[in-house]
Amino acid sequence: MGSKQITKYFNEDEFSCGCREGCTAPAISHKLVALLTAIRIDLGKPMRISSGLRCKRKNMAIAGAALRSKHLTGEAADVVAKSHAERFEILKLALKYGITGIGIYSRHIHLDIGHDEPIIWFEAEYPTSLRAELSQYIRLLPDSRPLLI
Ligand SMILES: [Zn+2]
Ligand SMILES: [Zn+2]
Repeated sequence: MGSKQITKYFNEDEFSCGCREGCTAPAISHKLVALLTAIRIDLGKPMRISSGLRCKRKNMAIAGAALRSKHLTGEAADVVAKSHAERFEILKLALKYGITGIGIYSRHIHLDIGHDEPIIWFEAEYPTSLRAELSQYIRLLPDSRPLLI
């Protein structure tokens, strides 16, 4: 089976759950991929997806994954971003294009469209000094909703 191109920059294989058999993951949301494509174009360089779709079995096998993860509904993707600067750049573009769930981790940034209002969260071990840098641009309300400054 050839992989199906969704947009110029992303194809279906990049988002696949990766199970060999018995996978119950749905299709990836094309709305999400359209937003990732807009971010990719502004970014001006490739974005590598480290996790896209997950069936229940796969999600349960991932330590710390949320039980109701948006990866289960095809509405989330994790983008590899190894430096703080890179994550920060993607974060700003994600807000610009209306991504509503943004998780900031040390190796990737999680982007999803499954929330009614934008929220941002950090990996528990994320350095405080790096979190503080965000406050130049965004104030996080107590319920994790971002306010752009
Ligand atoms: Zn699967
Ligand atoms: Zn994720």
